[in-house]
Amino acid sequence: MQSQNQQTQTLNMLPPTPDIESYRDVWTFVEIFRGELISYSLEGIAAARKIASKVGMKVGALVAGDKVSDDIAKTLIEHGADYVVAVEHQYLADYEPLAYTEALEEIVRLRKPWALIFMADEMGRDLAPRLAYRLVTGLATDNIDFDVEDFFHGLLKEKFTNILAQIRPDFATRIAKIYTPRHRPQIASLRPGSFKPLQRDRSRVGDIYRYTPSLKNYQKKVRVVDYEKIEDRGAELLGAKLIVGLGLGILRDAEGNAKNPLEAVDMARKILDLVRRKLGVETALGASRALIHADVKELREIITHDIQIGQTGKTVSPKVYIAAGISGAIQHRVGILRAGSVVAINIDPRAPIHEIAHYSIIEDLYRALPKLYEALQKKLESR
Ligand SMILES: Cc1cc2nc3c(=O)[nH]c(=O)nc-3n(C[C@H](O)[C@H](O)[C@H](O)COP(=O)(O)OP(=O)(O)OC[C@H]3O[C@@H](n4cnc5c(N)ncnc54)[C@H](O)[C@@H]3O)c2cc1C
Repeated sequence: MQSQNQQTQTLNMLPPTPDIESYRDVWTFVEIFRGELISYSLEGIAAARKIASKVGMKVGALVAGDKVSDDIAKTLIEHGADYVVAVEHQYLADYEPLAYTEALEEIVRLRKPWALIFMADEMGRDLAPRLAYRLVTGLATDNIDFDVEDFFHGLLKEKFTNILAQIRPDFATRIAKIYTPRHRPQIASLRPGSFKPLQRDRSRVGDIYRYTPSLKNYQKKVRVVDYEKIEDRGAELLGAKLIVGLGLGILRDAEGNAKNPLEAVDMARKILDLVRRKLGVETALGASRALIHADVKELREIITHDIQIGQTGKTVSPKVYIAAGISGAIQHRVGILRAGSVVAINIDPRAPIHEIAHYSIIEDLYRALPKLYEALQKKLESR
């Protein structure tokens, strides 16, 4: 066991950022691919705005590429950035981790943002830890929200005021807050789908700073030859207005008898098809991780990882989410926080899904789903 003194010493081994007070503004890294803006990067601007407004700072959109067009820069400003920092170099035309890390390290050391938000996608998950390591600062990944708070550090016996609270599910059942009190910038990644982009305001104006990094320590070792798009069978979840999510509860009825889970899939699909046909909106099937991991033979082609909803799956924002046979573990719930209404079908009245449900149906899903279909049919056929 370490004594408290030893622990404090261990903490002190990583020296705090020396000129910590000189760091200003909340930046967000905006991704572009072959000249096109990755649209969910706009959510990072919304998150940065929320933080910046609480600490009286500005929002900077950080973009990298061989050339960042004025059009893209303008779009970012109209969506809430106060200014754009365009890092331009021929080696940044394609995403190459070492070139990007080097370029971002240069600009961050030069301009010193107080916080820096990445999107928690393939690029952000690769780039953020590389940069945090180089800058000797912290990194909290996969956040779903941010706030600004005071934080008392028990071991250092020190109070830090107005620092970034990085909010994400922990690995068990709770929401955790992570702070980076002694280092700057405070680097975090944000799960796509957690924030709504700000409404475009075409009257907004802002500056564009163009910076050419020296990349003096970078040796080009990679040449991108081609791109291939990987099919995502769950892509339709992202724009769907109605989603039926199926969980492990579909394997048995309320009496505990084994069921053919395809019956539940068929019922869910009937509801989705009806609403798609009658209301002309996108609908999609989703699933809990437990159901996917159960690897049920009959479901292998249907309930795939692509349609997992939650912390390690997709974040969705339908108007209505019907959770059938899903307990509502925190890792699942964080994927549906932006759903308009949640309808929970679960036989257990104490299941956590009921805590966030707008409508709770405490009944066997094998009875409730057909009833729901019939009720919807009656309502929609008469339109
Ligand atoms: C790091 C980490 C990341 C994770 N990421 C995700 C993630 O992205 N997405 C995710 O979903 N999970 C994730 N999980 C797993 C998560 O913790 C839960 O284990 C999982 O969500 C449970 O799935 P479930 O609700 O389908 O199953 P269960 O928890 O087993 O719940 C089944 C529910 O069905 C009900 N039920 C049973 N029979 C019926 C019936 N006939 N009719 C109606 N209700 C019935 C039961 O009352 C029960 O509440 C993650 C876990 C960790 C540790």
